[in-house]
This record gives sequence, structure tokens and C-alpha cells, in this order.
Amino acid sequence: MAARSGSEFLERLSAARVHVEVQGETLTGGVADHPAFRNVVRSYAELYDMQHDPAFRDVLTYPSPATGEPVATAFLTPRTPEDLVKRRKAFKLWADRSLGMLGRTGDYLNSALMALASAQDWFGQAQGSGPGFGENIRRYYEKVREEDLLCTHTLIPPQANRAVSGSQQGGGALMAHIVREDDNGIVVRGARMLATIGPFADELLVFPSTVLRNDPADKQYSFACAIPNDAHGLRYLAREPLDYGRPRHDHPLGSRFEEPDAVVVFDDVHVPYERCFVLGDPDLCNGFYAHTSAVVHMTHQVVARTTAKTEYILGLVSLLTQAIGIEQFQHVQADVAEVITTLETLRALLRAAEADAAPNEFGVLTPAWAPLNTARILYPRLYQRFPEILRKLGASGLMATPTEADVTGPAAADIETYLQSATLGGAERVRLFRLVWDTCISAFSGRQALYEYYFFGDPVRMAGAYVAGYDREPGKAAVQAFLLRD
Ligand SMILES: Cc1cc2nc3c(=O)[nH]c(=O)nc-3n(C[C@H](O)[C@H](O)[C@H](O)COP(=O)(O)OP(=O)(O)OC[C@H]3O[C@@H](n4cnc5c(N)ncnc54)[C@H](O)[C@@H]3O)c2cc1C
Repeated sequence: MAARSGSEFLERLSAARVHVEVQGETLTGGVADHPAFRNVVRSYAELYDMQHDPAFRDVLTYPSPATGEPVATAFLTPRTPEDLVKRRKAFKLWADRSLGMLGRTGDYLNSALMALASAQDWFGQAQGSGPGFGENIRRYYEKVREEDLLCTHTLIPPQANRAVSGSQQGGGALMAHIVREDDNGIVVRGARMLATIGPFADELLVFPSTVLRNDPADKQYSFACAIPNDAHGLRYLAREPLDYGRPRHDHPLGSRFEEPDAVVVFDDVHVPYERCFVLGDPDLCNGFYAHTSAVVHMTHQVVARTTAKTEYILGLVSLLTQAIGIEQFQHVQADVAEVITTLETLRALLRAAEADAAPNEFGVLTPAWAPLNTARILYPRLYQRFPEILRKLGASGLMATPTEADVTGPAAADIETYLQSATLGGAERVRLFRLVWDTCISAFSGRQALYEYYFFGDPVRMAGAYVAGYDREPGKAAVQAFLLRD
């Protein structure tokens, strides 16, 4: 099998028996057509269809090294600058399709798997009870690539008591851990947060946190493995869906791009050794992303996506300010300038990361980490300003937003007359303002803001790691030299 089409993605999902708890309902299949998920699932299917569209397929796919069949570009191991550019163009194409709103498209974790597999020798250091972890990660990457599987991941302990470590939550019982091993593999019990798209993914990656550090006492909790999403004993506790089944006109984003988030429960899930990549090794867990460069390639995808999202915000705020004739006011220009500077900062950081790319110890051409890490630290805060700016500039117009039923119903004439704007007729203006509303006021938009703040880990602790890893010696030396000057 090669890069999937939308219908192939949907067919596999329809056959899967994923256990999802959602709004009091227990699903053991049928996720693809459930009202909570069917719209976003179809948005994902469109992305898979793009892989076969003559307009996009040369960017979105490359020939599999195993079969020569086209496979997704996110699996491409970059060796040349052209490879890196191709990867970024593929990320951007998919991100543009959802205006950057879909955060967990397959390219995010496929990038991680590509980097992890290329570092198979590093995994080979692990001498746990399973044989050949390096082989395991390489074979698993090849399987996901050839079958074009969609992965979700779960990294952090349940949020019970952050004053103690994950392994101490609930006396040690809460966080997913290995309860026993048998001849064939491990048995995992407990829970983890928080798997976005968990309910409709094909595979769950149970990986270490990108930010939290394991200590030697955390052996049982220190592992990495992959589990088919409908494995026995695995269940997802999904949050309330924010796609309310409303028309596209009324909820233009929520009706398309509402990615579910779910707590993952492991009720004695058996994981065969060939699906284990690290077992009982806190040190390997702590080096998992940095040593393999996985975090760099994941962030490369993220910054391409956040660039697409910021381009969307700039287009949206520009149409809004033109529509109601507020462009000439200086504070409005200052707000628009803020969006532009964020966009240009992201573009520059992305470009710098590619320009300064260098091979890592496994021969993978790896974007420079400092610019990507800077973008990763900045965006969680910068994004919060966008809904604030849109709310401020949209003002009461964001409440003058009748539904499609109103626009086409008895109020149509009033809407056309009284909701017209400087550049738009009433119905057109309502359509634009509903999009602004879904970007800055709706429940969907609230979840987007939370997502941008936290999806890569706690920005506060990311900043701590950023400071600890940044070479400040030249700056300190320069200041000390100045202090000693006559
Ligand atoms: C919408 C959304 C989608 C997500 N998707 C995924 C996903 O797909 N996969 C996945 O694995 N995870 C996902 N996450 C989880 C994400 O990784 C976490 O939200 C993030 O790591 C922060 O952890 P937490 O939510 O447990 O916050 P907590 O750690 O509970 O923090 C709560 C508050 O306390 C502060 N705090 C807590 N402990 C400390 C400390 N030691 N030092 C300083 N401050 C502290 C934090 O700064 C924060 O303000 C998602 C989160 C969100 C919100």
C-alpha cells in the first residue's frame, strides 16, 4: 500500500473497533460517522485525497525506498536542502487547507517517526528485556510509512497533583505504567493525557514527554511503545465535542476542523515487544527527542503550520478592517502590524532554520534548532493576541451575526440593508463576521487558543529548558569585558 486516499482512510476507520466514551455514549466502532467526529474526519480525508491530486502529489509524496510507490513526504529522510524544502512545502500545503486549524495532521508525528527511525543505533543502546529496539523503531516507521497510518500520541501524567511527580500520582496507580512483562511483551495499566484526534487515529504512540524529565525511580513509567488504536483494553475518554452539527455558514471552522481531545485509559493493554522502543530506561526517555532530532523535525512541521495560520489571521483581520472602514485609524494599524510582525518573524525563523541546517550524527539533514525553538517559545504567547485583536476590532459587529436560517429567511431584507458594510452586502458581511466569530469568540476558538498555548508542552517549562540550553557565555564575557574597561 502507498499514500492513502480519503476513501481508503475512511474505509479503515469504519472497520476499526476503537473504544471511545463520548457524552455518555460508548462507541466500539462507528467513529467515522458519529456526529461528534464525522466532519473533522472528512476534513482529514480531504488531506489524504490531496496526495493523489495532480496539483499537489509531487510535493505531498515521494517514491518509497521499499517499493517505489508514492508515500507521504513527511516520511522523507532529508539528506539535501531540497529535501528539507520539499518537506516544508508539503507541511504548508496541508496546513493551508485547514487555515492552520488542524494541529494533529499525520505529518506531525510522521516527522517524529522519520527522525526516530534514522536514530535506530541510539535506540540499540537499550538493553531492556525486549530484543532490538533499534530494529523495532525502524520497522515500525516503515510500517506506518507504507500503510500511511495516522498516529496520535500521549505523553503526560493525569493532572491529579502537580506537586508530586507523575509516578507518584494516586500512589503510583494513575499514570500509565508497566505492570508486568511476559514472553511476548508488556502489560500497561493507568492513564495519560491528552490524545488529540485519539478517537479517529489508527495508532497510539505512548511516548515520553517532550518537557517533563523522568528520574531513576520512574523505571516502570519510562517506556515508549506503539499500540493499534483498537487494542483490547485501550479506551478514550473524549471531551464534549465543539462541532454542534451547525451549517458551514454558521460555524465555518467548528463544522470542519474540530479535532477531539481525549484522556487515554490503559486497562491492562498488552503490547508485543516488537512494538516497544524503550523499556524501563529513564535516561533514554529523557534523550528521546533531543538525541534523535525528532523534536526539531516536529517543530519544523509546527512552524510551517503556524505560519499558515498566521497568514490566515492576517487575511481575516485585513478583510474585517476594510469591511467596516477602520483601516485609517492608527491603533488599528498597530494591531494589524502586530499580526504582520508575527508572520514575518515566523517566516524568518523557518528560513533561518533551513538555511543553517546541518547533518546530525545519523546523517539526517536537520534544521537549525535555535530558530525553530525560538518560534516554539514565541507562538504560544503571540497567538493569544490574535483573538483579542479580532474581538477588539470586530466589536458589536461580532454580535450582529444572524444564522444562515435568518439570512435566507424572513429577515433577509433587513439583513441585506442594515448589516451591509463599507465593502460588503449584508449577507456577505454576515458570512465574514461569522468566520471572525469562529476564530475569536466561539468555543472552537477558545479551544484553539488553549491548544496553541499548550500542545507542545507547558511554555513556562519550555522556556526553562530554552534558557538552560542556550549558550549565554559570549554575552556574559562581553559584559564582563566592558566592566573591566577603563
Ligand atoms: C488542546 C490540547 C491538546 C493537547 N494535545 C495533546 C496530545 O495530542 N498529546 C499529548 O500528549 N498531550 C497533549 N496535550 C497536553 C499538553 O502536553 C499539556 O497540556 C502540557 O504539557 C501542559 O501540561 P498540563 O496540561 O498537564 O498542565 P500542568 O502541568 O498541570 O500545569 C498547570 C499549570 O501549573 C503550572 N505548573 C505545573 N507544574 C509546574 C512546574 N513543575 N513548574 C512550573 N509550573 C508548573 C503550569 O505552568 C500551568 O500554568 C494537549 C493539551 C491541550 C490543552
